[in-house]
Amino acid sequence: MSDLAGRLREAIEGGRLGPRLWLYANYHCNLACGYCLTESAPDAPRRVLDAGLMRDLVDEAAGLGFESVGVTGGEPFLRPEIPALLADLARTLPVVALTNGTLFAGARMDSLAPLRGADVTLQISLDSDTPERNDGMRAPGNLAKVVDAVPRLIAAGIRVRIATTVYDQDQAEIARVAALVGALGVAPEDHLVRPTTLRGRAAAIGLGERVGTDNLPAEATVTADGLFWSPFAPTVRGGRLDTDLLVSRQVAPLAPGLATMLGLITGTPLAEASRFR
Ligand code: SF4
Repeated sequence: MSDLAGRLREAIEGGRLGPRLWLYANYHCNLACGYCLTESAPDAPRRVLDAGLMRDLVDEAAGLGFESVGVTGGEPFLRPEIPALLADLARTLPVVALTNGTLFAGARMDSLAPLRGADVTLQISLDSDTPERNDGMRAPGNLAKVVDAVPRLIAAGIRVRIATTVYDQDQAEIARVAALVGALGVAPEDHLVRPTTLRGRAAAIGLGERVGTDNLPAEATVTADGLFWSPFAPTVRGGRLDTDLLVSRQVAPLAPGLATMLGLITGTPLAEASRFR
């Protein structure tokens, strides 16, 4: 084991660095949610991480001791090559891919065939149990599309978990979402509930909690613009990429940026009580 791999292992085992490498596949999205941290939209700058580069990053991460991969955006499934790419990455490390779940009909559903039986979990956003509440922050028809897609994905042999972002929902509403998640066939342990962060469009409308290295767990996150502290870090505000939590401008290889990140982690109090996981 290299010296860097040994130090990474120590940080991961000590809970100071997340065991998952995050990759921002792209920043554009078919939706333009009111609280989107990355100001994603159909015409947003794409900031695409090339497929070959994503493969190289995952290979390097596996060699350095990372245990899984997260793929996020934007909406990754706007890229036609994503299903086969995710299945390919999953041959190296287990993958969780974040998606709004609104594209899985017709030919796009058929295109998910490579994911059947692959070690890939789709994490789909669902914030409330009524269209009035859920779709207001996201998009008209969002709830109906997710409710339609999730059972079909599960029936097709694709693992699903649901993420609920909390902005003004009370406990009763969260409980109703949990009941809906269960009715869709998703296990309670696969329902994530977490707060909005005060970044991107959420910050522009005054929603969410401030985040920084003091309350945001370190999770190596690569975008087309470099290595960041967390998947909640490479956000966009007013059309400009936030760089307050940028670790390194180098995208690949990972090793030099990770060495820098380890130095920052060593000098940072442990954010073990964080709810941003
Ligand atoms: S929150 Fe997700 S689904 Fe909504 S615009 Fe942003 S990236 Fe797209």
